[in-house]
Amino acid sequence: IPVEPFDLVVFGGTGDLARRKILPALFRRFCSGQMEENSRIIGAARSDHSQDEYRQMVAEAIAEFNTTSHCEAGTLDAFLDRIDYVHVDAKGEEGWKTLADLMQPGKVRAFYFSVAPSLFGDLAERLHTHGMADSDSRIVVEKPFGRDLETAKALNDVLAQHFHESQIYRIDHYLGKETVQNLMAVRFGNMLFEPLWNSQYVDHIQITVAETVGVGGRGEYYDRSGAMRDMVQNHLMQLLCLIAMEPPAKFDPDAVRDEKLKVIRALNPVEPADIVRGQYGPEKRNGPDYISDVENPRATSESFIALRVGISNWRWAGTPFYLRTGKKLKARASEIAVVFKETPHSIFGPEAGRHRNILTIRLQPNEGMDLDVTIKEPGPGGMRLIDVPLDMTFADALGPDGEEVPDAYERLIMDVIRGNQTLFMRGDEVEAAWAWTDPIIGGWESRGDRPVTYEPGSSGPEDALALIHRDGRRWREIR
Ligand code: NAD
Repeated sequence: IPVEPFDLVVFGGTGDLARRKILPALFRRFCSGQMEENSRIIGAARSDHSQDEYRQMVAEAIAEFNTTSHCEAGTLDAFLDRIDYVHVDAKGEEGWKTLADLMQPGKVRAFYFSVAPSLFGDLAERLHTHGMADSDSRIVVEKPFGRDLETAKALNDVLAQHFHESQIYRIDHYLGKETVQNLMAVRFGNMLFEPLWNSQYVDHIQITVAETVGVGGRGEYYDRSGAMRDMVQNHLMQLLCLIAMEPPAKFDPDAVRDEKLKVIRALNPVEPADIVRGQYGPEKRNGPDYISDVENPRATSESFIALRVGISNWRWAGTPFYLRTGKKLKARASEIAVVFKETPHSIFGPEAGRHRNILTIRLQPNEGMDLDVTIKEPGPGGMRLIDVPLDMTFADALGPDGEEVPDAYERLIMDVIRGNQTLFMRGDEVEAAWAWTDPIIGGWESRGDRPVTYEPGSSGPEDALALIHRDGRRWREIR
């Protein structure tokens, strides 16, 4: 679907995020014909580069990070022709006049703040003083959106001085994933699931985001956050909201976000006994562990967290949600599993065993869903039951000639241009998520809690297994 012509300014256009995600995503949308002829992308950052040097940097980023095979030869040069660069200082006057002069009248204007949050206020203010932003302009901001309720409120306040909420696009790239949007399609586009989507039929829900990498070169940044701030407060919380929310009256930004907000506000406080935090230990004897990766012998942040969360509302009272995320785990796998209750009675007798339906929504790898159903084991062996998955891998569903599943950033950036905020977090949602997270983190700090150590390449700390075993349940295999 074509979008209106636009000017997209990427502040921090030379940074890691721009090179790894934003620019390759724009290139792929260009290849798909979604950039009208007079749309432009303007990189703006603190370092001094000529136009050609910047275009060369963009070409290298695309060579390194682009994943599509759907671009015709010669497309890259045509894409680079749409790119400008301006050397701009967010904290000074340098470059702003040049940038303002580049803006085309009558086009959608979007400003991507791919810079440290401490610069958001400066950018917002200068966009206004230089007359570059009007009431239809959009700004895009990245995580981390604050590190607690107070700082998130301060960021919201700073942006609100110059932009209306309807102009602010807070990115959580998990919301741009095809599967996550499909979760809404499956829940609200079928008759099959919604009547069963409650504590009467659902035994529990598991949300897992597992990584194999450690903190890598981001140790210092990571240790200031830990998994709770870096993953749970935003990504896992958003997934939880989409799973647990009531059906919105329509698929419109505020209707969806109102329902998500109600879920966050209905979350129970989490008791210390319902949380396990871990730090990975050395890979081999003397190998680097979390402490040496972050270069802080007193580091108390967690590279793994598991939580048992409850929601106090009519639909979910009594149904536990188990959340876990961590680094250096045995596989890179993200999924949501909705585990239904056993049938109330087995007509096949005890030898047939008890079976459950499990709906698994896979975010990576192999984006897709499957539903475990119980059938008769084929053959003459009598009425023996087995569980088989009804598998829907999106890549298969699209077929060999179908389009590739678009990357989250492609979808989200185009939504900014279209002016559709459905897949972006609203300010009050972010604040409510911090209001739930703050007392949990505050409790660790006041008690001086320290994470336990876990084996790299494992499923996390033993205590996390115990957290769910205690309820007579078990984690799904990470694979
Ligand atoms: P980076 O350090 O690689 O890049 C920072 C960019 O900001 C550079 O282009 C730099 O020139 C520019 N900049 C710095 N000071 C400036 C100033 N005074 N005026 C104008 N430009 C200035 O950072 P990054 O990793 O690209 O991250 C950017 C933002 O995105 C951060 O808020 C980060 O937390 C967030 N983020 C990054 C990632 C990631 O994978 N890199 C993922 C999610 C969120």
